[in-house]
Amino acid sequence: MFSIHDEKKIISLLEENGHKKFRYAQIENAIYKNLITDFSTIETLPKDIRDILTENCFYNSLTLHSEKTDPEGQTTKFLFKTSDNKMIEAVIMRHLSGRNTLCVSSQAGCPMACSFCATGKLGLIRNLESHEIIDQIMWAVHHLAIEDKKLRNIVYMGMGEPLLNYIEVSDSIHIACNQKKLDLSNRRITVSTCGIAPRIIDFARDFPQVSLAISLHAPNDEARKKIMPVENTYPIDVLMDAINEYVRITNKRVFYEYIMINGVTDRLEYATQLGELLKGKLAHVNFIPYNPGEGTDSNGYLPTTKIIIKKFQNTLDQYGIPSTIRHTMGDDIDAACGQLALKEEWISLAEEQGRSIKK
Ligand code: SAH
Repeated sequence: MFSIHDEKKIISLLEENGHKKFRYAQIENAIYKNLITDFSTIETLPKDIRDILTENCFYNSLTLHSEKTDPEGQTTKFLFKTSDNKMIEAVIMRHLSGRNTLCVSSQAGCPMACSFCATGKLGLIRNLESHEIIDQIMWAVHHLAIEDKKLRNIVYMGMGEPLLNYIEVSDSIHIACNQKKLDLSNRRITVSTCGIAPRIIDFARDFPQVSLAISLHAPNDEARKKIMPVENTYPIDVLMDAINEYVRITNKRVFYEYIMINGVTDRLEYATQLGELLKGKLAHVNFIPYNPGEGTDSNGYLPTTKIIIKKFQNTLDQYGIPSTIRHTMGDDIDAACGQLALKEEWISLAEEQGRSIKK
């Protein structure tokens, strides 16, 4: 069995069975435009092709483990199980402006081990396949369609480090942006990385229109090393060289995420250092108050107060660097991406091992 999103395999399946290639366009239309989920009901196809699809392909490999919508109805967080029982999550964010964004996972777990991040505590479980990323997207597309809404933006800010699963992430972007498939605009897709420098340059060449977000989180090597092990491989000057090259190739503004952790990343001299680091660059900084999450804060971190975040923002203003502070509930859940999965992953691990764990 293989995924209905695997175009190459479906075309060869059609050919092996003596069918013309144009049949693929009908399948594509049914799946991505008419949102048909049951292959046996694709009326544009002859019965034998419908049967072949039913015998050989699956529609969505993910099963829904749980779904949670906040009281305002702005965000819906899905926890999925992959076919081999790995937990991954995706979050729909309904912005007041009317646009709807989906935050997707690119890996189950994550190898980067950032000290503040719940997903990092799991380590890498495995890379997701491109269809598993598309499966998250299709799930959201259907969910929003019931509300008469459309998916407009995708951010690769869920579990995992997308640039360490480059090929599968690339394939998923191609499927999402293909006009005959999901037809999303490249410009409305954002890939976030903790700073895999060489891949940033590949990304610039391969996807010059897709947006890039950098999880910077600290303005100097010493401070960054304490919270992000990636700093040992790609220190800030190497990272900034790659980003400069990205901007040279794409001429696009880069989004920098900066986590505000009390006493760790929010020392006032860091605001000036951040200003010095980014001055004159095509940059936008997004301050994210540290999200302590669900029982995962063994590191003792606390979020920075609003007043200090505001001070950071004022300093950046003086350097002419635009910035925003993430504060809405939906965005909080976005920042907390991975935390629910961590808890569930631990519970199921414990259950497998015959231990019990408090839910
Ligand atoms: N690995 C990629 C994609 C993850 S994006 C990356 O690092 O960019 C998820 C964003 O949420 C990252 O900026 C991450 O650093 C941030 N984040 C993780 N844990 C957080 C927490 N507890 N509070 C606030 N932000 C957090």
